[in-house]
Amino acid sequence: MELQELFTYLETPKNIVLITHVRPDGDAVGSSLALQHYLSGFGHTVQSIVPDDIPSFLQWMPGAASLYNHQRNPKTCFAVLTKADCIFFLDFNALKRVEAIATDIAKLRNKTVTVMIDHHREPDFFTDYMLWDAEASSTAELIYRFIHLHGHPEKMTLEAAQCIYTGMVTDTGVFQYSNTTPAVHTIAADLMSRGVDAESIHNAVYNQFGENRLRFVGYLLSEKMVVLAEQRAAYMSISIQEAERFSLSTGDKEGIVNLPLSMKEVDIAVLFTEDKDRIKISFRSKSHVNVEGLARNFFKGGGHINAAGGSTRQNLADTIAYFEKVLPEYLTSIT
Ligand code: 5GP
Ligand code: MN
Repeated sequence: MELQELFTYLETPKNIVLITHVRPDGDAVGSSLALQHYLSGFGHTVQSIVPDDIPSFLQWMPGAASLYNHQRNPKTCFAVLTKADCIFFLDFNALKRVEAIATDIAKLRNKTVTVMIDHHREPDFFTDYMLWDAEASSTAELIYRFIHLHGHPEKMTLEAAQCIYTGMVTDTGVFQYSNTTPAVHTIAADLMSRGVDAESIHNAVYNQFGENRLRFVGYLLSEKMVVLAEQRAAYMSISIQEAERFSLSTGDKEGIVNLPLSMKEVDIAVLFTEDKDRIKISFRSKSHVNVEGLARNFFKGGGHINAAGGSTRQNLADTIAYFEKVLPEYLTSIT
């Protein structure tokens, strides 16, 4: 349905819930908090829910303390959901990406108005309204677009602008990936002219690690990285035991997957992370090399052409062996 109809619906105060994906990143948290700041300015009651912990490098974000964490407070989150008139799903496009929250949503029996704002490929069509654009750099960019379509950019507070900026910075790798369009720079310029301090956001997001994390990166690169020269790929893995040995916290693993791409002979970088009940896999690639298909076809995941994720229920060794087997097959199939 048309967004204009949603805007008419939002003319009277509503109970609104904003939900983003598991293991929320800068774009997920930035989009939720930006929309929360914006919609609150119209008299709506707005509550953002994250499925699990946000990384420590996002805890400075304006409004972060107001987030409800479903994993830590499932009952409170469910109570909020049952009272919602309207739910926004942000930065994901298939309900399985919210894991346990999907069970709560199913219990609402479609009594709620639903909206998806997202930029990932291959969406499921599970909401009443959609602002979806796989060409958008980030969901945060789409929040900026939503605000302009809604027609009240003057109601974008500095807090909202900071959150949008953070989402765009994190999803474009600080304006370096192929999703960095002229529109991204134009929006970033507008946000800066509204008072966003680019340097302080950069420091808050990227320069907050402890010594343990940097030493861990050194260990991974020198002891763990495997280069598959023929496939122009490199991978690393992190076991639960290693994460404990280096006292890694949520967020300490962020950005590690990209590191092998700095080698000129590598186009694909992969990081396997052992979790309690699964292996989480992150894929990154350069320019034309499509890792979304690899994640989707072999690892029950998806994402974008140059940044995708997936998971397996096998152990780390079996997952890596499977990856080494399917990678050459996949690369042959796409050339
Ligand atoms: P990351 O490697 O940072 O977890 O994720 C990279 C990109 O792939 C993000 O845009 C993320 O939303 C997407 N992604 C990560 N894991 C999954 C997954 O399990 N399924 C799907 N469909 N997308 C994922
Ligand atoms: Mn995103």
